[in-house]
Amino acid sequence: MNNKLNYLVIHCTATPEGRPVTKEEIIRWHTNPVNQGGRGWNRPGYADVVYLNGDLANIIPFNTDDFVDQWEISNGVVGLNGNSRHIVYAGGMDDQNKKPKDTRTKEQLETLETYVKYTIKRHPKILVLGHNEAPNAKGKACPSFNVGNWLRSIGVPEQNIYHKPVEEKKETVVITTPSTETNITEAEA
Ligand SMILES: [Zn+2]
Repeated sequence: MNNKLNYLVIHCTATPEGRPVTKEEIIRWHTNPVNQGGRGWNRPGYADVVYLNGDLANIIPFNTDDFVDQWEISNGVVGLNGNSRHIVYAGGMDDQNKKPKDTRTKEQLETLETYVKYTIKRHPKILVLGHNEAPNAKGKACPSFNVGNWLRSIGVPEQNIYHKPVEEKKETVVITTPSTETNITEAEA
């Protein structure tokens, strides 16, 4: 069983700029039955939420080891949840709720930076990505900013930044790199 914690995935709540969002709302949106306006999931989609004022609220508890136990799973991205932790910031849409927008407040930026860096300290091999970079994220804008560029701008090492697997080229290229643990990780996604 491979339940290694390989990925930290960043999301937005896709709510209008300046609109507060609480963890209770997120839990309702995700776990209420469909006929009550929810998604009907058995668990919410995020482990933690960053409020507009920078406060960090936990939705799904987790421990500090390198594994994702059943009770730690959040349903953020189909196909990746068994190996991921999901963090969300409140916002991600313009104030008209029409277009995706990076609406992170100064306080949210500070909290997200601290969160990402602490998570990397705890899990030095973890890869950080935006929801829109995940293999199953077809056309999603979430989290409404370029996560790789932002991570570089705050000094996150390249080894912790997720890179989309490069499309295989038609020509046959002989690659002689020895198989490593990283290869196994990427095959899992
Ligand atoms: Zn998302």
